[in-house]
Amino acid sequence: MTINAGPFAGTTRLTSRRRELELDALAAAPAVDLLVIGGGVTGAGVALDAAARGLRVVLVEARDLAFGTSRWSSKLVHGGLRYLASGRIGVARESAVERGVLMTRTAPHLVRPLPQLVPLLPGLLRPGQASLVRAGFLAGDALRLSAGTPGAVLPRMRRVDATRARQLVPGVRAVGLAGALVAHDGQLVDDARLVVALARTAAQYGATVLTRVRAEQVTGTSARLVDGLTGQSLDVTAGAVVNATGVWAGEVDPSIRLRPSRGTHLLVDAAALGHPVAALTVPVPGSTSRFVFALPQQLGRVAIGLTDEDAPGPIPDEPQPTDAELDFLLDTVNAALTTALTRADVRGAYAGLRPLIDTGGGSTADLSRQHAVLESPSGVITVVGGKLTTYRRMAEDAVDTAVRLRELPARACWTARLPLVGAPGHRDSRPAPEGAVPASLLARHGGTAREVLAAGGAEPIAEGIDVTRAEIAYAVTHEGALDASDVLDRRTRIGLVAPDAARARAAVEEIVGECLAR
Ligand SMILES: Cc1cc2nc3c(=O)[nH]c(=O)nc-3n(C[C@H](O)[C@H](O)[C@H](O)COP(=O)(O)OP(=O)(O)OC[C@H]3O[C@@H](n4cnc5c(N)ncnc54)[C@H](O)[C@@H]3O)c2cc1C
Repeated sequence: MTINAGPFAGTTRLTSRRRELELDALAAAPAVDLLVIGGGVTGAGVALDAAARGLRVVLVEARDLAFGTSRWSSKLVHGGLRYLASGRIGVARESAVERGVLMTRTAPHLVRPLPQLVPLLPGLLRPGQASLVRAGFLAGDALRLSAGTPGAVLPRMRRVDATRARQLVPGVRAVGLAGALVAHDGQLVDDARLVVALARTAAQYGATVLTRVRAEQVTGTSARLVDGLTGQSLDVTAGAVVNATGVWAGEVDPSIRLRPSRGTHLLVDAAALGHPVAALTVPVPGSTSRFVFALPQQLGRVAIGLTDEDAPGPIPDEPQPTDAELDFLLDTVNAALTTALTRADVRGAYAGLRPLIDTGGGSTADLSRQHAVLESPSGVITVVGGKLTTYRRMAEDAVDTAVRLRELPARACWTARLPLVGAPGHRDSRPAPEGAVPASLLARHGGTAREVLAAGGAEPIAEGIDVTRAEIAYAVTHEGALDASDVLDRRTRIGLVAPDAARARAAVEEIVGECLAR
């Protein structure tokens, strides 16, 4: 089923050489079962699903894996609590089921349980709101149990006293603190890392994964593929074409109507909140269902998010946060902190656009997060909406639709049992003995940590940045990075803080250059 990965056949390695070989092979035999457009979490998930069913699959991504919305998320693998609050039980249950699949089978190495703490502070919660939050957390527990996720993976909700609350989030306001309600959800070490793991696993099952390749003139059975590196183009035909381009879906298929909504996060040093080990959850004044979260992140930072703003007009490559959004986030979180954060504490900020389906009026916060699989008059199958947590289910629905409409020769979906590269149970995973690899590298690479370390040294790429030189090399030799920006902005997240990127750039460019020249 593989197009022709030559020496790379059956491996998870994505390299510039593999890209060249596979582009040549595709030019020689430009007919495939499934063309997937878009290399975010949805497209990578579709490519894996289809390749694992035995279809001949090509995925094209105009820029880089996880270039779009998939790298700007809150990195939560969530059980859909907020959907319960609005009575959307089906969406909530789907989230809870997929969270369990990720945390127990497909990617437990990338998702950890994250305690989320709602502090019981005077003035923070409206009268009766603590009871509502507690009821919501209890319902979340019931959902977790019904999804079959054990308490050993995600502990049940509990109330903690003020001392314990301040151990979990030392920066939380002490005066008047009567304890906190704590519930658990899943947290990805990084969202872009999930996308790369999906694309690599898809490649192992025979999918051709081509970055810097844009699909143009797309129909239900064909597209022109333009190589962004050479300018050359190639016409391919396909049994089915799946449009998984997120907020760009309407550019590929004009029958699709989206209403993008911008979500912004800012980054502060973890030290500014006393190095929290739990997420701090602060209600947005005047709303019963909206919260601002301060989420501990890798690389010693806390991300504070998030907003939900209508974002009409042309889709930018990299959406930008507004000053008003940053002020809103700081003002909201400061209500729960001992020492207020100011603009001087902000190390970086980022924004992403949610690909929400336009259902008419109302605010974007009220639009459904449910996904849809739509066949347009031109025959293009678009999968859009949804969320990172439910990518696997979205992919299954999209491939089921393609198989049914176009009678493709595919087996049944089995991705719920398919470990991604780095997960326990994946063919290439090897346990790393305690202390054999840096803990941060292990958290990012799981069962491939020792293979990563073998690609280079364990020294940090720059002082104070816990990304090793080995990870930079591995990004090029195994993860499909084609230049320093792919490494700084997506294979690692050093680029989220501009001064960090500036300090690391020269060393990253040197390693990338060496690896590409080999
Ligand atoms: C601020 C924010 C926070 C979020 N937080 C969470 C969260 O915590 N948990 C959660 O589960 N979900 C979360 N989500 C939702 C989730 O991030 C998105 O639903 C998901 O990432 C969308 O992925 P996608 O693959 O559909 O789109 P994208 O990631 O945008 O991928 C689309 C890709 O298509 C490519 N492309 C476009 N046009 C072409 C073309 N013509 N040819 C080839 N390629 C093309 C683009 O370059 C892009 O890489 C959040 C969303 C936002 C905005």
